[in-house]
Amino acid sequence: MPPAVSRAVELLAGRRVTVLTGAGISTDSGIPDYRGPDSPPRAPMTYQQFVGDPDRRRHYWARNHVGWRHVHETRPNPGHLAVRRMEDLGGVNGVITQNVDTLHEVAGSRNVIDLHGRYDRVICLTCGRRISRDHLAERLDALNPGFADDVPDAEIAPDADAVIEATAHFRVADCEHCGGILKPEIVYFGENVPKARVEKAFAMLDDADGLLVAGSSLTVMSGLRFVRRAHKTDRPIVIVNRGSTRGDDLATVKIDRGCSPTLTTMAEALATRRTRPGSPATG
Ligand SMILES: [Zn+2]
Repeated sequence: MPPAVSRAVELLAGRRVTVLTGAGISTDSGIPDYRGPDSPPRAPMTYQQFVGDPDRRRHYWARNHVGWRHVHETRPNPGHLAVRRMEDLGGVNGVITQNVDTLHEVAGSRNVIDLHGRYDRVICLTCGRRISRDHLAERLDALNPGFADDVPDAEIAPDADAVIEATAHFRVADCEHCGGILKPEIVYFGENVPKARVEKAFAMLDDADGLLVAGSSLTVMSGLRFVRRAHKTDRPIVIVNRGSTRGDDLATVKIDRGCSPTLTTMAEALATRRTRPGSPATG
C-alpha cells in the first residue's frame, strides 16, 4: 500500500467522515472529466445564455436529448462501490457530490446530497414543477421523431451533452402546465447552489469527524468551501485526486492517485480493521 494511502487509513479508522466527490470519481464509469489534468479547456454554457438565448437553448436540448441517454446507461465503478462499502462499515455519514450522474445513488449510497443537481430531473423555471428526464424524453421524441437515433458517435459529457452538428430544426418542449422554460435540474455556471442544499451539506460535514475528498480538483468554491470549513473546525482532511487541487494546502493527507484503486484499497483496509477479532470497533 502506498505510504500516503496507509496514512489515510490510519486517519480514517474509527472515524465517521463525510465524502465529497467530483468528476474524477466517475471517469472510470466512462464520463470524462473536463477539468482533469489531461483534458482540453472547455467553456460550459452559463445560466444566462441558457435562459436568454433561444438558439443556444435549442442547441443545448438537441445535444442533451442524445447525450443524456449515455449517462443513463453508465454504471457505478469500484470508486462509487468503495464509498458505499465505507458507508456500510459505519465510516461514512454521507456523500456530497458535485456530479449530476446519480452514480452514488445507483451504487447504493443512502445519504447523498447532489450539490449541483441531477441529470435525470427537469424543472420549469416559471412554475417550479419538476418532471423526470424520462418523461421529457418521450415528449422530445414525439416532437422530433428519429432525431436521437440518427446521431452516431455521440460524445459523453458530464452534463449529459453530446456533440451534434445539425440542431437548427430541433423542436424544444416547454412546460406542459404554464408554457415556461424547462431546464435540467442542474446548477449551471453563473448560478448558485440553492441555499438550503448548502446548509444541509454543511450540517452533514459538521456531524462528521473528518472529510474525504475524492476526484475533485476543488476548482469551484461550491466544493472548496467544505474543505475550508473542515479545516477551520479542525477536522482532518484526506484528498484523493489525480493532479493538484485548490485544497492541497489544507489537506492532512493528499493522495495523488486515481479514485477507483485508492478508494478500493482504503475500504478493504478499513473493513479488515473493523472485523479483526478484539478490535474495539466490533465490540
Ligand atoms: Zn411551468
